[in-house]
Amino acid sequence: MQRKYQQLKTRLAEVDDLKASAALLSWDHETSMPPGGAEARARQMGTLERLAHDKFTSPAVGRLLDSLQPWAEGMPYDSDEASLLRLCRREFERESKVPSAWVSRLAGHAARTYTAWAHARPANDFAAVRPYLETTLELSREYSAFFPGHVHPIDPHIDPVDNGMTAATLRPLFARLRDSLVPMVQAIASQPPADSACLHRVFPPDRQRHFFEQMLRTVGYDYDRGLQAVSPHPFTIKFSIGDVRFTSRLVPEDLGEALFGFLHEGGHALYEQGVDWSLESTPLASGTSSGVHESQSRLWENIVGRDRCFWTFWYPRLQAAFPGQLGSVSQEVFYRAINKVQRSLIRTEADEVTYNLHVMIRFELEMDLLDGTLAVRDLPDAWRELYRDNLGITPPDDRDGVLQDVHWYCGCIGGAFQGYTLGNLLGAQFYAAALRDHPDIPAQIAAGSFGTLLSWLQANIYRHGSKFTPDELIRRVTGAPLQVEPYIAYLRGKYGDLYEL
Ligand code: ZN
Repeated sequence: MQRKYQQLKTRLAEVDDLKASAALLSWDHETSMPPGGAEARARQMGTLERLAHDKFTSPAVGRLLDSLQPWAEGMPYDSDEASLLRLCRREFERESKVPSAWVSRLAGHAARTYTAWAHARPANDFAAVRPYLETTLELSREYSAFFPGHVHPIDPHIDPVDNGMTAATLRPLFARLRDSLVPMVQAIASQPPADSACLHRVFPPDRQRHFFEQMLRTVGYDYDRGLQAVSPHPFTIKFSIGDVRFTSRLVPEDLGEALFGFLHEGGHALYEQGVDWSLESTPLASGTSSGVHESQSRLWENIVGRDRCFWTFWYPRLQAAFPGQLGSVSQEVFYRAINKVQRSLIRTEADEVTYNLHVMIRFELEMDLLDGTLAVRDLPDAWRELYRDNLGITPPDDRDGVLQDVHWYCGCIGGAFQGYTLGNLLGAQFYAAALRDHPDIPAQIAAGSFGTLLSWLQANIYRHGSKFTPDELIRRVTGAPLQVEPYIAYLRGKYGDLYEL
């Protein structure tokens, strides 16, 4: 059996090599490729994705899984062997239902659509990407049809990224959250807005970058196993546990953009760098779901990065780096500026209170597109309507409306957004559990020490990679299933104090 297990691992490592190569092409595509390379790159990515898919879903892998199953079931549940067999079985069953021709078509189409979007967004030209998006919707509905048992066509799209969640479980969860958030947003909006002018002076990008790198290094990101580049839409990408990269956007007149972008992507990267080396080159070697992944980016970005204790340590250093811009700005004014709540158009720049309303809008639109109640040509209007109804503002153009997020322009429609809200909920739930174990974490952070929190996350979450389903992991770490209450309690505590609610 050991020999067969090694055979399986060898095959999986080859699949992983193909996927990492496709990821490297994608990194190059989004950070430095000249426009002339776009067409060939789309084809190259399609080829690599197809090869990886064919290799993973081959009958030989199926036979190895069949013969190893009884052996693995005799192993402890959390052993590498039992966990790998469980995950591979689930992914094999799923991916075997998807024809490789579809995989290759989607990869090529997604690369072309990304190129079209990268031009269309600055030009505010939805019409230029509309035909691409119509094909994306067709491909996305084809994908749903590969899983005939689904209740809603979005369910097969959610399953691979947030296993265990469906439209039926998410809708009531989001409704409960909305019921708490909407009155909170209204109560805050009736008060004078915080002054965030101090974030919008001119901050030279090179100095920003230098400072944020130092900050991320102190938090625990390992620059010997990663690097940072610039891209229009920040993201994190992994080629191996020893090479986890991220991108950011440095805007001179907006300190918050890169500051919270570094902490957000840094959170994703800490998770991937923290996976146990024994899982390298297997499907277990990355975060378990998009919700758990976002719980880490949002935890470092918001719960830690927008907290008073974090700035007790960092604010004097930030002032020293930007004396002309921040020398005369008090820490309290800065703290209020970075936690300003306002109804705004852009999801990635939204504050913690309004953020989930942006996500729910996208989730609803995805469901309507997939079940045929909304056509792509009506999408910009539907977007505007939902913003008016949920946030009380209407985007003046598509650039800051339906074109703002890259997700639908680089993959399928469906499953792309719910993870952000799940992440917000989970980040609060995990942090509350960390504080129960180590009540002195805030005091340590105020002294510039992140070791206790990082080690706790590493031991409880990061090292396990995808050994546990999201639900298993959440219960193991917090003793309860996913809950809305810790997040609401967190928001009420913090913003109740800030806005005297
Ligand atoms: Zn993220």
